[in-house]
Amino acid sequence: AAKDGGRGRHHFYAPDLHADAEERSKLERDLRDAIAEGNLELHYQPVVHIATEKIVGFEALLRWHHPAHGWMSPAKFIPIAEESGLIGAIGEWAIRTACQDLARWPHDVRCAVNVSTLQFKNPELPFIVEDAIDSAGIHPGRLELEITESVFLTDDEGTDAMFAALKQIGVRLALDDFGTGYSSLGYLKKAPFDKIKIDRSFVQGATERGSKNGAIIASITSLAQALGMDTTAEGVETLDELDLVRMFGCSHVQGYIYDQPLDVVTASSRLATGFDAVAKGPRSARAAR
Ligand code: C2E
Ligand code: MG
Ligand code: MG
Ligand code: MG
Repeated sequence: AAKDGGRGRHHFYAPDLHADAEERSKLERDLRDAIAEGNLELHYQPVVHIATEKIVGFEALLRWHHPAHGWMSPAKFIPIAEESGLIGAIGEWAIRTACQDLARWPHDVRCAVNVSTLQFKNPELPFIVEDAIDSAGIHPGRLELEITESVFLTDDEGTDAMFAALKQIGVRLALDDFGTGYSSLGYLKKAPFDKIKIDRSFVQGATERGSKNGAIIASITSLAQALGMDTTAEGVETLDELDLVRMFGCSHVQGYIYDQPLDVVTASSRLATGFDAVAKGPRSARAAR
């Protein structure tokens, strides 16, 4: 695993978007092996309550250490998992693993798990979620499922039924990457979200003169607040960005300013010291480079 000296972030194998079919099917076979051999990991990125600077939970993010390519980004292998149907097994593993890890953490810690649109369209999902929660013996409200706007692209009865079934179980629901897809305010009315995650693309550059991002962040947070939803600003890297998202009313922050995604041992150790989160980023983006 190549790591950079500065902050210990993983260097991901750069995806070649033009990788040929042969390369893809090789990766698909490798991914199949990785599932069978247990070579997938969940890393956990702290989610911090801005007002108190306490860790309230984590987002679980998949990591795959590929035998030849090193750490591979989920942005590269999730699409392969979706096309090959492996996402079902991987997604179920992620939900079960996160619930097992939650069972070892204090009761007021939550964990979010990403659910791809294909998983969301699987009528079995509520049974998987319920069984994972029961097997781990955790309170359902500690599990949060992150869903993207693309679940609404096919506006069928199944979507409404899925939201109802998940709410019935008692898990929390978050709308991920808000504002990057085919956003419609109608989704916020239709679906019972507890949280909106403001995409990193709105945070990046928000502190630059003339940027419209701050106004967009402020509008999303006031809308969320009026609807009784939390807001997490994603990808906050600098102290200036932290000040900005605080000023514009975000309730929570997730980003390298506090922590990158951590292996489960390191994540657990973050809880040992009173859940305190320490902002340790550069003041501005210029200094970050
Ligand atoms: P996401 O759910 O929007 O996750 C946030 C991404 O932003 C993560 O990338 C995280 O490592 C990264 N990030 C967090 N803070 C910062 C920051 O301050 N700066 C920068 N530059 N990046 C930051 P990651 O881990 O590469 O995951 C990419 C995407 O892969 C996720 O986006 C999610 O859509 C998907 N993914 C990850 N794990 C799973 C999973 O278990 N199941 C499914 N279906 N998708 C997953
Ligand atoms: Mg997410
Ligand atoms: Mg996101
Ligand atoms: Mg994203």
